Amino acid sequence: MKKSGRVIGIMARILNTRRPRALWHRYVLGFFFIFVTVSVSHWASVETITAAEDDAEVLSVSARQRMLSQRILFLMSEIDEAHAPHADHRLEAALDLFETSHDWLVSRPDLSDELKAVYFENGAIPLDAFSRRFVQLVGIASNAEGAEQQELRALLADWGTHDLLAALAAAADLFRRESEARIARLQAIQQITLLAALLVLLLEALLIFLPAQLSVNRAIDRLEARTKHLKTSLKVLKKRNVELSNARQNLTHAANHDALTGLHNRRSIYEHLSFDAPATQRGDTARCVMKIDLDLFKEVNDTLGHHAGDKMLVHVAQTLTRETRAQDVVGRIGGDEFVILLTDPPSVDMIMALAERITAAVAQPVQLEHTSCSIGASIGYTLATSTDATADQMLVEADLALYEAKRAGRGRACAYSDALAQELEMRRALFREINEALAQDQFEPFVQPQVFTSDGAIYGCEVLARWRHPERGIVPPATFIAAAEEAQLIDQIDRIMICKGLDFLEEMHAAGIELPSISVNASPTTLRDVHLTDRLLQEVRARHLAPAHLIVEVLESTLIEHDDDAALHTIEALSKAGFKVVLDDFGTGYASMSNLSRLRLDGIKLDQSLVKPVPEPRADSIITALVTLARSLNMSVVAEGVETASHHACISRLGCDVVQGYHIEKPMPVRNFADWYFGYTAYVAARA
Ligand code: C2E
Ligand code: CA
Ligand code: CA
Repeated sequence: MKKSGRVIGIMARILNTRRPRALWHRYVLGFFFIFVTVSVSHWASVETITAAEDDAEVLSVSARQRMLSQRILFLMSEIDEAHAPHADHRLEAALDLFETSHDWLVSRPDLSDELKAVYFENGAIPLDAFSRRFVQLVGIASNAEGAEQQELRALLADWGTHDLLAALAAAADLFRRESEARIARLQAIQQITLLAALLVLLLEALLIFLPAQLSVNRAIDRLEARTKHLKTSLKVLKKRNVELSNARQNLTHAANHDALTGLHNRRSIYEHLSFDAPATQRGDTARCVMKIDLDLFKEVNDTLGHHAGDKMLVHVAQTLTRETRAQDVVGRIGGDEFVILLTDPPSVDMIMALAERITAAVAQPVQLEHTSCSIGASIGYTLATSTDATADQMLVEADLALYEAKRAGRGRACAYSDALAQELEMRRALFREINEALAQDQFEPFVQPQVFTSDGAIYGCEVLARWRHPERGIVPPATFIAAAEEAQLIDQIDRIMICKGLDFLEEMHAAGIELPSISVNASPTTLRDVHLTDRLLQEVRARHLAPAHLIVEVLESTLIEHDDDAALHTIEALSKAGFKVVLDDFGTGYASMSNLSRLRLDGIKLDQSLVKPVPEPRADSIITALVTLARSLNMSVVAEGVETASHHACISRLGCDVVQGYHIEKPMPVRNFADWYFGYTAYVAARA
């Protein structure tokens, strides 16, 4: 086992497929071996040819020697017979040739030892000596005469035809055998080197081409695998790319759109506005920014939950998209704030018509959570044809117009104008001034007495706010109440009036003045404060007063317009706590009869608009009817705006319980009240 493992290891090393780069070493070695073997083979073949040529010459000379020996014998016999002309010359030439050929044969440098032995050593007379003796004897025989000549010739004929010929043939034979052996050797070398070359080629195939092929195969396999892997990677990459571009699109969409409604978001709206600006700056395109704010949307959220609120927002988004053109951009930029960008609107009429369609469509009741819900939409819009309207500016303008629409009573559309902006700026300035006035305690109460119609006794005083302006003097509430309401500062003014009113009452009581009550005006905001009752109780107790000393005047409009549950709860709580609550400005709105019956109100204050026309049959009838209604509900009736004695008399006759008006006294600073009180009580006492 171990052995076979080792063999495999060695084979692997020999094949060396792991390091194909080192194969060139083997190429060099292989080339060297092949060069050597081919060179040797070439040398062997050249040698074979040369040897064959040389040997052929030697053999031919040897054969010629044998032939010459016979010719010499023949020529000798011709000379004897003397019928051959020139035979002696030819004999001489043959002898010369025989002798030089013999010299050439025996003096060859590559003469083998065996041949040397044959020529010079073997036998009684070696071939060389034999040949030379033969030539010598032929010479002697040619010159001899008679018997000697006969004897010599017989000897020479015997030698020539037997011994010399045999010796020459034997030498030639030996030489031929040697030559054959030499050529066989050279051929063997040639064959061996050829075989060696073939072997090297085989080894090259095994040790170079096979490993090279194997490594090429492996490289191809690897390449194919890599290509396959690359193709798969490419597919994955392409897929990832598609996913990425989808994700990017989704991200861009998410970055520019509102997730709930799918409309453009604030950022996108802003970009559209900024992007479209250059067209407008050329002055050839008008743009309209329309801002839409939902009315009563908070109520949907509060009563039906956020899910229903979301549904409502989606419904509104769909409505806006439906009502606008394809090229218009609709967006949601806040909780219930939407924006429409109209590029190149055909006319102002078209914008107004669109605004109307939107307010009407949004006002349609929607079925949410099995409940029919109604909201509204207030719209502000601005039209820019000017060259310098920036995105910010247009949004601010639309916002101002929207603000105005809301202020004017919601559910309507309002266009921006410079006059509107000016008015708003003035109002804003007023807001700031009111804020400063609050900080500097510039609000003070004026009081206006209220007296019973029956005996003229003092019923109480209404506390009316005045702003003691450092430059403008006493500023009436008509100037600042609405602004304070808008700026949501009215509850602070109410609180100041209540506190200062109660201070006043406490002072009056301390001064021994019998003032049964003070009336204070409570704005809707004040009434929505759930802690109002507790706070008033504290204020009253702090001054050793009773809740019944404070009458809270509630505007009829508070109950109708706001349909305000919080305010209704406060009114109930105030009543329960012992405070008196009266309905102010009664007759100016649509008094909800259900509220009148539901709430434990202590009285109603007839508005001046009802009181002023008296005496007049129809006005008288209305007041009589209202007095009857109040009586039946156990409520007192106060008439406001009684300015003259006859007016006073008429109102008394119609059954009102209390009167308030210039005929009794105009509102006055609290410090004047004591004087007025003593004067008035003295007057009443005198009259009685
Ligand atoms: P109101 O509550 O209806 O107050 C009665 C208004 O009628 C007072 O105007 C009073 O001066 C005026 N008045 C009384 N008798 C006569 C009369 O014989 N003839 C005429 N022409 N007017 C008469 P004033 O003080 O200017 O207040 C206006 C309104 O401002 C008040 O109407 C009330 O709604 C609001 N107001 C005044 N003070 C406050 C306050 O402290 N808080 C709140 N929320 N509103 C206040
Ligand atoms: Ca009042
Ligand atoms: Ca009033």
